[in-house]
Amino acid sequence: MKSNTFDTIIIGAGMSGGWAAKEFTEKGFKTLLLERGPNVEHINDYPTTNTQPWEFKHRGRLTSKEIEDNPIVSSCYAFREDAKHFFVKDKEHPYGQVKPFDWIRGYQVGGKSIMWARQVQRWSTFDFEGPLRDGYAVDWPIRYRDLEEWYTYVERFVGVSGNKDGLDTLPDGAFLKPWESNVVEDYFSDQVKRHYTDRHVIYGRCAHLTESKQIFVQQGRGLCMSRKICQRGCPLGGYFNVNSTLIPWALKTGNLTLKPNSVVHSVIYDEAKQKAVGVRVIDSETKVSQDYFAKVIFVTASTLNTNLILLNSTSNRFPNGLGNDNGLLGKYIAFHNYRGTINAEYDGFQEFTTEGGKPTSHYIPRFRNVYKQETDFLRGYAAGFGARPMRETNRNGFGDKLKSNLLETKENGMWSINAHMMGETIPKETNQVSIDKEKKDSWGIPQINIDVDYDANDEKMINDFFEQFTEMFTKAGFKNIKINDNHRRPGNDIHEMGGVRMGKDPKTSLLNKWNQLHQCKNVFVSDGACMTSTSTQNPSLTFMAISARAANYAINEIKKGNL
Ligand SMILES: Cc1cc2nc3c(=O)[nH]c(=O)nc-3n(C[C@H](O)[C@H](O)[C@H](O)COP(=O)(O)OP(=O)(O)OC[C@H]3O[C@@H](n4cnc5c(N)ncnc54)[C@H](O)[C@@H]3O)c2cc1C
Repeated sequence: MKSNTFDTIIIGAGMSGGWAAKEFTEKGFKTLLLERGPNVEHINDYPTTNTQPWEFKHRGRLTSKEIEDNPIVSSCYAFREDAKHFFVKDKEHPYGQVKPFDWIRGYQVGGKSIMWARQVQRWSTFDFEGPLRDGYAVDWPIRYRDLEEWYTYVERFVGVSGNKDGLDTLPDGAFLKPWESNVVEDYFSDQVKRHYTDRHVIYGRCAHLTESKQIFVQQGRGLCMSRKICQRGCPLGGYFNVNSTLIPWALKTGNLTLKPNSVVHSVIYDEAKQKAVGVRVIDSETKVSQDYFAKVIFVTASTLNTNLILLNSTSNRFPNGLGNDNGLLGKYIAFHNYRGTINAEYDGFQEFTTEGGKPTSHYIPRFRNVYKQETDFLRGYAAGFGARPMRETNRNGFGDKLKSNLLETKENGMWSINAHMMGETIPKETNQVSIDKEKKDSWGIPQINIDVDYDANDEKMINDFFEQFTEMFTKAGFKNIKINDNHRRPGNDIHEMGGVRMGKDPKTSLLNKWNQLHQCKNVFVSDGACMTSTSTQNPSLTFMAISARAANYAINEIKKGNL
């Protein structure tokens, strides 16, 4: 038992767990980081990172068999020949879909941070006040001011390229310099400024190193060269993933025990001590079960897996899942509505052909219902925006003829314009996950059933996005405007949140303002499961800031003898 005892146990080696591991180990705590998947060592385990396009057997694409076998994960744009090895395949880890839900996962050290799109926008005051003002879900127990210093703390370590835009809807951070925008992105930004006072087209803040600083040199990371193949893992450490930063950093302290291939079955609750004492782990390969013990446990296995672990952590005291006295564990799951896209063409700036090649796009922060309710739907949407020169490629012919036709590819003078919505969805009790009473996975853990869907609010928001962006595009002189509802299934945004929400009242929430389970104070949840509402911004920066804040609170409480 002694060799299996640590100060802290952290479940899941993604961004959320990685931050907790860094904080605990840096401050001298012996920490066990449990990860169900294999290790992925920075550089050594990026098998395709330097593969040239012509070296891929299928030129980067999936085979029709792969698509047929993986209807869920193949719907993710990044599941392609170059990075497919980092994604969970549909048949490997089945789950129940009460309603269609694309659950996109990465089971390995680093989690989904290896393949993510690196967009990192802070939340604002309006986002944390949303549920209280608009009367849905429950009030957040924290506000932007509680997270502000943690955002800065995380950004300084991660490296975030951005502009100081001075917007109250999207607070500025500790930014490295941005890449240049292309001429049409600047043009649209100016046009929107001319026609609207409340709308802004800005550079999308992204987790890439555009400047060298001591902290990045210490991490062993170099500048981003804008290779734009980040999902394969970057040998330069040019973008932020857990493998090149948090894990080696924590290992260097000598206080981290990283255990890959360790599937956490449940958290062990001691009825006599009235607290959690450890976790039950099943070796993913041998299937042998082993218990580990610690004073404090962080459950950061990603939103839905965190829900599953807690639901599966039953005891006499908690027959329905750890901390679940109010029956709300697994409920109020929400996500982001990415269904609306809009495309257009622009015939200006024909003399310019530079796309820019930066590894981020432009961003339009939410402008609907920000200061007051002004539409017949709740909340709003942000949007991504991009423009690139249109090229005409002649793919006719075979052999030499095809080659010479391809070499004639040229810009046709037009620009292709696109924007996609990122809508907030309203957390509802009916959007929930539960554990299956019969079906178990290969490790004897019950399967999760996901029962999550869009609602009328989402449909209205999609229509509003179409109307507003058609108007904005028209005012900018864009032509041939086409709207499209891509009918993406929930989950395909890969921003699932909730189920173990934070709140002020133990009757209506699971976690307090420090991410402790109200009913079991030495268990913390600081990944997406803790989110009370979803805002419109990409959420991972907030998961990291919340994790760093929660870990530092736990550290202080341990030092005071309170945990
Ligand atoms: C293609 C793509 C693009 C994305 N783009 C963006 C973006 O631009 N901006 C943004 O903010 N977010 C983006 N995301 C989402 C982002 O990747 C996630 O929000 C983030 O990685 C979540 O971090 P996490 O640590 O909470 O979860 P994960 O990264 O999923 O890590 C959780 C870890 O826990 C492990 N685990 C699970 N269950 C168990 C168990 N029972 N026992 C032990 N270990 C377990 C998993 O194997 C995993 O390694 C994107 C995701 C993808 C896939």
